[in-house]
Amino acid sequence: MIITKEKIDQLQSWVEEANHIVITAHKSPDGDSVGSSLGLFHYLKKKSDKVFICHPDEAPDFLHWLPGYDHILNLDQHQKDVEENLSKADLIFCLDYNSPGRIGKMEKILTASDAKKILIDHHRDPDMEFCELMFSDITACSTSQLICEIIDASGDDHLIDETLGTPLYAGIITDTGSFRFSSTLPKTHHIAANLMEHGVRHYKVHENIYDTNSLDKIRLSSYALLEKLEVLEQYETAFISLSQEELKRFSAQKGDTEGLVNQVLAIEGVKMAVFMKEVEGIVKMSFRSKDNIPVNELASNHFSGGGHLNASGGKYVGGIDDAVKKFVTILPTFVEEHKAQFNEV
Ligand code: 5GP
Ligand code: MN
Repeated sequence: MIITKEKIDQLQSWVEEANHIVITAHKSPDGDSVGSSLGLFHYLKKKSDKVFICHPDEAPDFLHWLPGYDHILNLDQHQKDVEENLSKADLIFCLDYNSPGRIGKMEKILTASDAKKILIDHHRDPDMEFCELMFSDITACSTSQLICEIIDASGDDHLIDETLGTPLYAGIITDTGSFRFSSTLPKTHHIAANLMEHGVRHYKVHENIYDTNSLDKIRLSSYALLEKLEVLEQYETAFISLSQEELKRFSAQKGDTEGLVNQVLAIEGVKMAVFMKEVEGIVKMSFRSKDNIPVNELASNHFSGGGHLNASGGKYVGGIDDAVKKFVTILPTFVEEHKAQFNEV
């Protein structure tokens, strides 16, 4: 049991005692980190006046419509406010990350703080040291789902309204690929249905997230798929790489390449998909797989990263051509080591 009565009582009494609560989440925010932060924010606001959200950097545009988004402070743009809030905090929530290394430049301030810390997360291998109270459930499809479960276990289901539920619904659909990944459990559908019953308009969430692409983004995706897709049939693997110059050519904004790696994985016969993009001296790597192919191993063993079995990320320090070379070099060994998983039908 991850959500026990004792832990819920502890959480609620810490919230009651706290004078300054700060919600944090991982760098390069995604739908789940922003959704869970805002869902928890709206929930805690019903119990406390002093609740703040501090993220390491700004979220992509497709998340800016979420109710309460303007309350999110990020270290890049609001350094003074973030530092001040974290230093005043006596209770810090750590959402959607499993170790302090995942919050980038905010790590130092967070680990220096003597505030009580509560982790709510669904990533593997959580660091057991940095939070006093942990809700770590690797079977949860999303941190947003865990927030719903915590609200329910606290007897506060009646507090859910459209404002509170919408970000949580957004977090669930973005982390489950709209209920299609294997992490989606019957429970996930029950929780989503409950959010709808409390006023969440699911079609609005989908429309705002998936039907608001800029023309530049569509053109960049088309270019990437037409000109930059490489399929290595022998290894049932395909990848796309984009240089800084190519991203600039299409005026790529944060989030514009999101989802491309899933399109690569959607190709028949492809069991592993990789997307690499060059940003300021490093190459950000995204890995996706089908079946039981553990791309988190690839990410952690070779690209200083990690993540989930079927969705992981990491980085390569250097240029895009060298990143591609490194990936292509380690690929045959990885496939050989995981022959059984690649051959699964
Ligand atoms: P994405 O490819 O969407 O950037 O990341 C997919 C998943 O991989 C994320 O949800 C996260 O769990 C993990 N991930 C991405 N980048 C990193 C990284 O640099 N380090 C670690 N440990 N995990 C990462
Ligand atoms: Mn997540």
